[in-house]
Amino acid sequence: MTPILGASTLLDRQSEKRSDREYIEALRKAKDTLYLVLAGGKPVVDASEDRTEAKIRWFDRAKADELKLPVADSIFLGVERLEEGGVGPARFALPISEHFARAVPGGREQLSPFVDLRSLASQGAMSAEELSLIGQAAALANWHHNTRCCGRCGGSMSSKEGGWKRECWACKHHEFPRMDPVVIMALTDGERLVLAHEERFPAKMYSALGGFVEPGDDFIHAVRREAKEEVGLDVQSVKFVGAQQWPYEHSLLLGCVGQVESGELKINTTELADARWFSRDDIKLMMEGKHPDALWVPGRHSMAYKLIQDFVDGND
Ligand SMILES: [Zn+2]
Repeated sequence: MTPILGASTLLDRQSEKRSDREYIEALRKAKDTLYLVLAGGKPVVDASEDRTEAKIRWFDRAKADELKLPVADSIFLGVERLEEGGVGPARFALPISEHFARAVPGGREQLSPFVDLRSLASQGAMSAEELSLIGQAAALANWHHNTRCCGRCGGSMSSKEGGWKRECWACKHHEFPRMDPVVIMALTDGERLVLAHEERFPAKMYSALGGFVEPGDDFIHAVRREAKEEVGLDVQSVKFVGAQQWPYEHSLLLGCVGQVESGELKINTTELADARWFSRDDIKLMMEGKHPDALWVPGRHSMAYKLIQDFVDGND
């Protein structure tokens, strides 16, 4: 199975119970509750020696207390859905700093290795289910880290509802975890596909075009607008392929195929370093790492890869 970051179905998130403080506190103390530790946003994992297989290293409450982990700051992810029906133990995300993981007694042995989610996903060393769970945890932990102050009055904010809400102590303004919708699009004339290189990409990597869905857009309009703005193409029809959470930038990627008339690309150089039409044969070489100019495409865990693979397979 190709690991792709999706929505985890392992847990029942119990959104209706998050506001019950006593319930969440009881789960935090339960013996069978498990904690996923994120050190500087990176999950602590158990990895095989050759690093080809990795699993989340779960910590129970006794172990978390022994390591003096800040359990009060943990974020409720949900309770396990049991195969026979009903629900099982709770799972929480527990964010700490990398410094804490190294400095706390026992940390160097028990809180390492912690591995960047992007590497885990691109190496294909972890199951899609576990990657999705880490994606959920990392997105929430990142949001807490970046939402310390109230956007309305500048006061300090604190975590509420098991970590699914933050509240300003001064004006009581609330903020909720957010996902920013982004369209990512395969623009094709049927025979060729437009792929682009941005300055921020690794050298020689080409990917599908993308852009934020702006206020006043719907996603179809966003595809048409971005295609025109970035490469000067008019999109005739738009097909929605699927969505993927992208926790690195708290984005929700909306994968689309845009049918276009073939034509000269007018590249917007403020957004793109380069953009080109690629044939199926060219793209196959890029996917296999055999392109004569060493051009390549994003890894298997990404929505861009799925769009590109669909094009090569003729599924557009
Ligand atoms: Zn405020």
